[in-house]
Amino acid sequence: MLALLNTYPLVVSENLVFRSKQTTMQSSVSVMVSALSGLSVLTEETVTQAMTVAEETAVSRVLVTDASGKVLYDSSETGSAVGDYVLYTEVVQALAGNDAFYSRYYDGAFRSRAASPVVYRGQIIGAVYASEYDTEQAVLLAGLQQNLWRISVITGIIVLVMSLALSKLLTVRFNQLLEAIRSVREGDYNHRTAIGGNDEITQLAREFDSLTDRLQVTENARRRFVADASHELKTPLASIRLLSDSILQTEGIDEGTVKEFVGDINSEAGRLQRITEELLRLTRLDGEPPHQGYEVSLEAVIGRVTHMLRMLAAERGVVLQTEIQQPCSVKGTEDDLYQIVYNLTENAIKYNRPDGFVKIGLRQKNGQAVLTVEDNGIGIPEEDLPKIFDRFYRVDKARSRAAGGTGLGLSIVHDTALRYGGTVQASRSSAGGALFTVTFPVWKEGA
Ligand code: ADP
Repeated sequence: MLALLNTYPLVVSENLVFRSKQTTMQSSVSVMVSALSGLSVLTEETVTQAMTVAEETAVSRVLVTDASGKVLYDSSETGSAVGDYVLYTEVVQALAGNDAFYSRYYDGAFRSRAASPVVYRGQIIGAVYASEYDTEQAVLLAGLQQNLWRISVITGIIVLVMSLALSKLLTVRFNQLLEAIRSVREGDYNHRTAIGGNDEITQLAREFDSLTDRLQVTENARRRFVADASHELKTPLASIRLLSDSILQTEGIDEGTVKEFVGDINSEAGRLQRITEELLRLTRLDGEPPHQGYEVSLEAVIGRVTHMLRMLAAERGVVLQTEIQQPCSVKGTEDDLYQIVYNLTENAIKYNRPDGFVKIGLRQKNGQAVLTVEDNGIGIPEEDLPKIFDRFYRVDKARSRAAGGTGLGLSIVHDTALRYGGTVQASRSSAGGALFTVTFPVWKEGA
């Protein structure tokens, strides 16, 4: 690019000089030709006399030849060529009837030559030849060339320094980003990039930071989940250990106590089984791609659940009612939808009071199937409502444990509903207890 910037103005300037030379040389030659135009024959005397005009022209040397190319006049003071035959290309061309011009620039000078024929009554009777050796314009051109070089070198240095500074700046910023990526890769989710600005690197850094935010949230949830799960598994295991140790270490333990302890061990083992089964279910919900599902009638599912739980409700003195306003089908699997209705209904029976009721409702609204499970039991305090679907979250741990709860039932309801494009919401029921509302898109054939 710089080379082009260097050569292009030079070539243009050279051409301009050539053109101006051509104009001046040819007009000088034509002045001399017209000075000779009155002559019918060219001789040394007539030509020398007419050529006084040549002294006034700017050319370095002038030759006038006759039709055979013999020099009749030579303006140069050194070595006169008068009497010699000249066969310069330009002279030959002029004697053939053409105007000739030649100009070259080399060795720091412009060398130009021009020639024209001298015609008398249609006859070529000779030629005027002028040559010029010009160093003045050449000096100007050399000066221009030198200046261009200087400008190019300075521009080159500025561009180099600027690109070095820019690449240094970019490298520093990229290194900051790389450092952040490495830190996060090593597990430091608190690390954030400290890149300011408004360019693409800053945007990249911001995107990376928000990715790290999400990773941090997920990682915290994972840690909390592992800690909670271990804690939940530890408690029944500790009880089993304690009970079995008591049986083994108590001398002459009576059969009644052994039976009681083994019964307790059995119920703790049952709890362990429930926790692990529910954890597995949640892991499956987390990991598997969304199930395609098929048409499942919610009315039928509600029927199966009430049939299954009627004994438990009777035991607790709770009345179980269903209120199907509009039967409808949704997309899912029998097992998953059963789990949702079962968990909600079982909770409503467990966290109830004697003579309480549980009402399972089903209706349609705006293309959604709306399933409600309402009770007039102990209810859920307002401040616990947002956390109720978290894993292992329980309002009253002791009561949940006593009722055989694991704290995972509502998480399963939540994750399963989401899996089939549904929503789930917990609120306080106007009857004083809890109200759970689950919505699903209504099943449409071919949708
Ligand atoms: P759990 O196995 O303890 O029942 P869940 O995830 O099913 O676990 O429920 C979480 C907690 O939400 C329960 O421990 C209980 O405190 C509260 N809860 C759930 N359903 C009801 C309800 N219908 N009435 C009052 N509290 C409820």
